[in-house]
Amino acid sequence: MPITILDYVKSVVGDKDLYTAEDCLESGVDILGGCQACHATIAAYNAYPSTSGYWRCAGCISDTGFATVADFTAHETAITACPACGNTDTISETRITTSEDTEAYALECGDCGEVWQS
Ligand SMILES: [Zn+2]
Ligand SMILES: [Zn+2]
Repeated sequence: MPITILDYVKSVVGDKDLYTAEDCLESGVDILGGCQACHATIAAYNAYPSTSGYWRCAGCISDTGFATVADFTAHETAITACPACGNTDTISETRITTSEDTEAYALECGDCGEVWQS
C-alpha cells in the first residue's frame, strides 16, 4: 500500500504512541479530510496522499499514491511553489472555470494572486 498522511506526520515529528492534531498541524497537514473520489471522511491514519494533490481513502487511492514519504515530500515541494513569485507558504486550492461548463482544481498564490494548474 502507498503511504498514509500519518506516515508523513511520523516522518516529521518522529515515532510516538499517539499522534495529535498538534502533530498534524506541525507537519502542515489536517487531521481530518475527505476522499477526493468518494467524499468519505478520512483521518490522517487512513488518508492516502494522491499525486492529484488531494487525499483519497484506501478504496480510492489505487495507483495514485506515493510509495515512500520521500516521493511525497518531493512532489509536495514541486507543486506548492508559486511559479510567479516562488512563494511556498500561502498556496491554497481553488477551482477555476476552464470552459463554459467545466471546472478544474487549481492552486492560488496568496502572496501575488497567481493561479495555476499543477
Ligand atoms: Zn474514497
Ligand atoms: Zn506568487
